[in-house]
Amino acid sequence: MKTFQLLSFVTKGAQLRYLPNCLRSAEIFTSSLREKLVPEWGSKKHASKRKLLVNTNHLKMDAEIEKQLAPLRARVKEQGDLIRQMKTDGAPEMDVKKLVQELKSRKKELEDMTLKLYPQDFFDRAKMNDLIKRRFFYDNSFAIYGGITGQYDYGPLGCDLVDNMLTEWQKHFVIQERMLKVNCSILTPEPVLKASGHVDKFADYMVKDVKTGECFRLDHLIKQYFEKYIADKKVSQEEKDEISRKINLLDDMTMKEMDDIVKAYDLKSPSTGNNLTDAVEFNLMFPISIGPSGNMAGFLRPETAQGIFVNFKRLLEYNQGKLPFACAQVGNAYRNEISPRSGLLRVREFTMAEIEHFCYPDNKSHTKFNQVADTEMVLYSACAQMDGESPKRMTITEAVRGLGVTSFGLLETASEVEALDYYLRDRSYIFGHVPSQADVTVFEALRQAPSSEFSHVTRWFHHISSFEDNEKRNFPGISGTIVDLTGGRHKGLVANETLGYYMARIQQYLLKIGINPKKLRFRQHLGNEMAHYACDCWDAECLTSYGWIECVGCADRSAYDLSQHTKGSGVRMSVERPLKEPKIVDSVVALPDKVAIGKTFKKDAKVVQEALASLSSEAAEDMDKTLNEVGECVVNGFKLTRSMVPAFKREQKKIHVEEIIPSVIEPSFGIGRIFYSLLEHTFRIREDDEKRTYFALPAVVAPIKVSVLPLSNKTEFIPFVTQLADTLTDLNLPLRVDDSTGSIGRRYARTDEIGIPFGITVDFDTVNNLAHTVTLRERNSTEQVRMPIDEVPLIIRHLADGKLQWKEVTEKWPKFVAQETTK
Ligand code: AMP
Repeated sequence: MKTFQLLSFVTKGAQLRYLPNCLRSAEIFTSSLREKLVPEWGSKKHASKRKLLVNTNHLKMDAEIEKQLAPLRARVKEQGDLIRQMKTDGAPEMDVKKLVQELKSRKKELEDMTLKLYPQDFFDRAKMNDLIKRRFFYDNSFAIYGGITGQYDYGPLGCDLVDNMLTEWQKHFVIQERMLKVNCSILTPEPVLKASGHVDKFADYMVKDVKTGECFRLDHLIKQYFEKYIADKKVSQEEKDEISRKINLLDDMTMKEMDDIVKAYDLKSPSTGNNLTDAVEFNLMFPISIGPSGNMAGFLRPETAQGIFVNFKRLLEYNQGKLPFACAQVGNAYRNEISPRSGLLRVREFTMAEIEHFCYPDNKSHTKFNQVADTEMVLYSACAQMDGESPKRMTITEAVRGLGVTSFGLLETASEVEALDYYLRDRSYIFGHVPSQADVTVFEALRQAPSSEFSHVTRWFHHISSFEDNEKRNFPGISGTIVDLTGGRHKGLVANETLGYYMARIQQYLLKIGINPKKLRFRQHLGNEMAHYACDCWDAECLTSYGWIECVGCADRSAYDLSQHTKGSGVRMSVERPLKEPKIVDSVVALPDKVAIGKTFKKDAKVVQEALASLSSEAAEDMDKTLNEVGECVVNGFKLTRSMVPAFKREQKKIHVEEIIPSVIEPSFGIGRIFYSLLEHTFRIREDDEKRTYFALPAVVAPIKVSVLPLSNKTEFIPFVTQLADTLTDLNLPLRVDDSTGSIGRRYARTDEIGIPFGITVDFDTVNNLAHTVTLRERNSTEQVRMPIDEVPLIIRHLADGKLQWKEVTEKWPKFVAQETTK
């Protein structure tokens, strides 16, 4: 799900701004009224200049290099510590923000130096794009009309590759996790996206050319201008440094700050030199009007997730009222990006595969966690980012439970208290916080006052100590284990088992389809990147020639989405859980005047009455107060007056169940970004011949699994080729027969290019020898073995399913050396 970018949320006095994702640094382009085909895409012009460096050494340490990096790391840490201290001391938000800007600048300095010092891999993007275009994996949409940026058509190979990635996704998640599935509407009415927050907050900043109306994404425009500016030799070093700092801070600037830069530097339209308008917030959704009357406003969905949320009640019912359960949806989403570039990485129409895992907020354990417990992952925690440290490799168990923590009942050791301090630090948990039973459990587990070095715990501890025992007993909420109540956070980096479980499963999936493990990491969102309602969020990032790219987001979104739709629709998106002991509660119920409501709302009267009946006691109480004070109020979009709801019934009720709005843990996959990263990660150039390029795609996702190459076009070969091709087809193996006249080497090269993992050659020995053997070749190693023609189809099936490894084939069958007969 999109973390709303560049907009501010206010939470408990702290203003949080959303960092644009890592792509931003790679983009410095603009859109135009009639958008042009990306000029350099696939062209060989300036190819040598576009050889790119990709650093894969983020885990390797070199003592000499680390010595050089140490002062930069220390600078980042110093700033990170200062920010923590300021936050603890309740410093004004503006002051903290300035420090965060400086922190980002220092982080960038460290990253740049790391890239400079560690050895780089060369990646020839132009060569890869040439292959992608030539063999039609994908191409710009409407290319014959000049094309459109941000829109792509997938060709036969691209379609098959995406289909295979999604089939694996389906097996890996939907089938293995026994998820539910939905397929929901793309055309979404406005109230749905109003409730989700997209109507108000899903925006980027934009300026326009005052004369032509050409639009520019503001941060990209400024960056482009500054980069040109500092390239000028006449600009002093001091000014260059100052401008570089500003470039680094762009991601964090408000619209006003960016607008001030436009004015201070008198920025003009780069295409015409005309003046620019003031900046505006541009909502990224595509507006539509549904139906011929044009009365129903809506949008193309910006993500698939909302379709799952709005169907929550039906899904819960389907699941017999039980939690936890997960539901998946695959489909297209639409975002009107202001300046889509970087090929498939930022487009306006893209396929998402999203999972919403619904669970009780107080139990985020996962029954299958032990199955992934030993999965090793590279994690780049928020803390490590703040401290200027590198990502760390650890098992997901260590990440969820923490290192070396044994006690689950008491918070005794310094590391446990430190972990709790970490949990409290970023959450504003204690400031203005109404204590709950969760606090009591953790408080009791702490047993004694913490050492003063743990400032957050200390503050929280004194806050809870200030209540009498009987007051503590009346705190709201339910008690549980410490692990549950703190989401496991005090034990480790990852908030809870379910989030950790999905992170491990996401990694397994990405590796299975061929993502390079050395170019994969999970990066935790910093406090100011994360939506205020989210408990924890990690992005699976792939390293590409565009930098680290967010391919999968994995967030614990708490009860935010279902609460919003409860408010927006008036339908309670909750589950009922039996209480251990019945409870007496105050209940407030609206008593509407049905006649008055019927007269006013006619066909909508039933909806209004249902909305009133499903109000919670608190909402009903609020409504009564508003009607008293203002005389009217709005429920579910309908304006109600006191005469329509003249009275409210107040009584005490004995309840046997509690109503809970479930938490949501959401893995969200951008299929296009994974597809592109996969192509980069598997692109190879043969060492002995740099013209021979190919994709080393794993057999499970390769669009075509096997090629059949007759060595000669003599008629005696035809029955063998036909029979082999038919048997392979019967086994559902997509194949390509290449009976062209080219040399066998050239034909291998052609099949390698499009990632076909296995090739069968029918030669003279196949025809002449009684055993009718053929050659089976593996693409990456180019090794060949000889085996009877009848055996080969099933072996390919097993290889393609991952049930058999090539090594096993080479152990069983003799290596091919040469044909015995040649005519
Ligand atoms: P978000 O909802 O913004 O977190 O996006 C979820 C996933 O969708 C991201 O992890 C990306 O992989 C993908 N994504 C988001 N925006 C785009 C875009 N404009 N083009 C391609 N993929 C995108």
